[in-house]
Amino acid sequence: MKNYVKKDPWCIIEAGFKPELNRISESIFSIGNGKMGQRANFEEDYSGDSLQGSYVAGVYYPDKTKVGWWKIGYPEYFAKVLNAANWIGIGIAFDGEVLDLAQCEILDFSRVLNMKEGYLERNFTVRLRSGKEIRATSQRFCSIVDTEAGAIQYAITPLNFSGKIKVVPCIDADVVNEDSNYEEKFWEEVDHELEDHYGILTVRTKKLDFHVSTGMKYKIYRGEEEILALPQVIKKEKFIAHELVYDIEEGQETIIYKFAANLSSEHHPKPEMINRCRELLERVHEKGFTKMKEEQAYGWAKKWKESDITIEGDISAQQGIRFNIFQLNQTYTGEDERLNIGPKGFTGEKYGGSTYWDTEAYCLPFYLSTADQKVARNLVIYRYKHLQKAIENAEKLGFNHGAALYPMVTMNGEECHNEWEITFEEIHRNGAMAYAIYDYIRYTGDEGYLAQYGLEVLIGISRFWAQRVNYSQEKKQFVMLGVTGPNEYENNVNNNWYTSRMARWTMQYTIASLEQVKGSATTAYEKILAKTLFEENDEVASWKKIIDNLYLPEDATRGIFLQQEGYLDKELIQVKDLDPQHLPINQNWSWDRILRSCFIKQADVLQGIYCFEDEFDTATIKRNFDFYEPYTVHESSLSPCVHSILAARLGYKEKAYEMYLRTARLDLDDYNNDTEDGCHITSMAGTWMSIVKGFAGMRVKEGNLHFNPFTPDQWKSFAFNIRFRAYLLRIKVNKMDVEIENHSDRPITVYLYGKPHEIEPHQVEVLEQI
Ligand code: BGC
Repeated sequence: MKNYVKKDPWCIIEAGFKPELNRISESIFSIGNGKMGQRANFEEDYSGDSLQGSYVAGVYYPDKTKVGWWKIGYPEYFAKVLNAANWIGIGIAFDGEVLDLAQCEILDFSRVLNMKEGYLERNFTVRLRSGKEIRATSQRFCSIVDTEAGAIQYAITPLNFSGKIKVVPCIDADVVNEDSNYEEKFWEEVDHELEDHYGILTVRTKKLDFHVSTGMKYKIYRGEEEILALPQVIKKEKFIAHELVYDIEEGQETIIYKFAANLSSEHHPKPEMINRCRELLERVHEKGFTKMKEEQAYGWAKKWKESDITIEGDISAQQGIRFNIFQLNQTYTGEDERLNIGPKGFTGEKYGGSTYWDTEAYCLPFYLSTADQKVARNLVIYRYKHLQKAIENAEKLGFNHGAALYPMVTMNGEECHNEWEITFEEIHRNGAMAYAIYDYIRYTGDEGYLAQYGLEVLIGISRFWAQRVNYSQEKKQFVMLGVTGPNEYENNVNNNWYTSRMARWTMQYTIASLEQVKGSATTAYEKILAKTLFEENDEVASWKKIIDNLYLPEDATRGIFLQQEGYLDKELIQVKDLDPQHLPINQNWSWDRILRSCFIKQADVLQGIYCFEDEFDTATIKRNFDFYEPYTVHESSLSPCVHSILAARLGYKEKAYEMYLRTARLDLDDYNNDTEDGCHITSMAGTWMSIVKGFAGMRVKEGNLHFNPFTPDQWKSFAFNIRFRAYLLRIKVNKMDVEIENHSDRPITVYLYGKPHEIEPHQVEVLEQI
């Protein structure tokens, strides 16, 4: 755990440069705009330790699978979001001496992420080996208005000398992925053009032939005077640069404005890309840095209006939640239904930038409540578009008749994961896809989604479950053998309660959805039946039989659901009784020891209780929570939020807060010692859920919003903005009361502690807290 980020409600601040923390800071200070993003690498040369990362959404490489022992059914490749052309580069030298923060004395340094306005700033004063002192300030952002563009303002001043400055604006596509399986470089050059103060480099990926044109156009000022001298051209393989050398006086500032464009063949026909890149560069260059930055601030103000959470009385919590919301909004904007949310977003390479069940189980609720409905809709449509591939994935494993198994990890619908206990067995993910459809419809009321897209997906998933179970003569029930639940610290177990519960629910929901579509959209229903070759009577009958006879392990004595049949055979030791030096166990214990232990990586039974909360009484929820929580090590960042929400539901306020703290500043404080790999973007949505679903107790029931709020002791108050259907609401929870502001033109009925209250348009209702 580190504690070097300065507390501020709107900014993330690193004061003083610690090279050993640079990779962590590069992750934390990452910027993005949904279409591209980058780690907070330096513009000028840096020879110290760094993970270079510039990413273009949707552009990936199918890196050939590397496994020790091949198993039939393994995917051929693991998709990796590529480290793409670096457009921030501005080399600087004075009288031939290169500015490199790893090679000089740093007199002062700060890195600031301004979350309110959406830009990254860096200030430093350094002394070069020659004794020359220099001050520099840079600001940059990926524009959320011109989403294929970015801009940098880089100002540099010699403090104690006059001499020659060399400025080298460049684009470098000769880059690598550190996680490349075979140390291969993934890019090849297609084309380049370099003219006065501007250049475009076009590269293509091997295998899939994605093209990306990355361009720069820049202006340089010495004081007020623009440097118009023709630059010298530098051209190397997959690299373009200009070199400008001119005299500079002591105290005279050079300002470099570098505008960048990043166009991919995902959005443009290849033959058009260079022209379009040139046009975009012209346009943003014409607009200028100041205007672009103003637009950026305006765009972010709009996002904050819909998604901000304010916390009074705890600046550290305030900074933490804003950081999480900021990163989520930087990662996914919902404009492109082909895109999704990688667990590391644009902040690092780990997890390949691909899509996991994290999206449906954790991120969807955040986007449902904080953005236009189309954003969440695009997330669910993403899986609809992958249905055919999910059917093929299932066929590859031996399933048939349209059974669909969604992948554990994917970029285009194909499975990329290659550990048998996860790829073949962690099938609960399929349930998350079905649940997301339910969750989306429940929140938005978009019932038409079922007939248009949802039902087909549900049929495919239910077919999978029906084929995945088998009838046990011994138990006289259906069983689901050889699975891995969300708790990846147990593999190949039988009858994981969560998975089986999800399977049963999916079949129930599919049957109900069939009825609903049949009744409301008969033509669409007939079409779906024909398209899926659905054998209405037989399939529904077989699902009903499974629903009624599926084995769900329970322990009657303790009154709990069993994570899996054999869970109670384990030696039951609570986490508090473990030597803290053994934690995290995944860094200290052999896999064998972990698998045989009772320790739970992340919410498993409790994940199911969280999903189907209304089906259990409080005593049941309590018994299960009290039993499982003490064995849970929360070694997945996705775990604490579910515990926080359930603890809040049970009135365990301290526990709810303790669990919230484990995710809120996970990356800012490098809680798990792994932020250098990138930020935990998907679990950030869990932090948001801990506040909104946890402390505020927000639920949607029969089309209405319900709240059961309390304020954690450590806070004076908290407030959040949410969208719900046609409404924009602000909910503020103090120690004594709850304010509900209706920012919409229509009245809304909101339930507080189970009682309905009508809030008039543009009115605030102050209600008493229980
Ligand atoms: C978790 C999975 C999750 C993945 C990506 C793993 O550590 O166990 O549930 O999908 O990380 O976030």
